[in-house]
Parts: sequence; structure tokens; C-alpha cells
Amino acid sequence: MAGSNKKNNRNNNYDDDNVRIRKPKKKVCAYCADENLEIDFKQADKLRKYVSEKGKILPRRVTGLCAKHQRELTIAIKRARHIALLPFTVE
Ligand SMILES: [Zn+2]
Repeated sequence: MAGSNKKNNRNNNYDDDNVRIRKPKKKVCAYCADENLEIDFKQADKLRKYVSEKGKILPRRVTGLCAKHQRELTIAIKRARHIALLPFTVE
């Protein structure tokens, strides 16, 4: 029983640390919030918000999108790159 206690303590400490570092601010997926909004590879202006300065696709923890829309976004950005609407890299 002592063993399992130790494990619990460790987990609790981990949670405490997480809270201390940053209070999670709940983000709502922009595309779920607005049903009229659609991810389209032709709208390079909108996609540009979701790529970094170097042209990389931002991770979900930064974009705040849900898994489904992040997936669609990635595909849209890749398509946009292919037809040269977005850069693959920025020097
Ligand atoms: Zn969504």
C-alpha cells in the first residue's frame, strides 16, 4: 500500500506544478465557433494566421483549433503551398 501512496503523491505534485506554471485559458476552436467559417486552401490570407514567420504550420496548442479542424487546416495549408499561395519556407 505504501507504494501506491508514493505514486499518488508524485501525480499530485505534477498537477500542482502545472497549475503554477500557467492557468489554462480555455480556447474555443474558431471554426467550430463560427459555422459559416470554412477552411479553404484558396483563402491564403486566413491560412497565413496559422503559419509561423518561417512558414511552419503552428501546433494545435498555439492555434487553439480542435483536432478535426487542425487536421483540415494542415491539409489546406499543404495544398496552398503546392499551388504557391503560401511559402514552404521563409529565409
Ligand atoms: Zn473545430
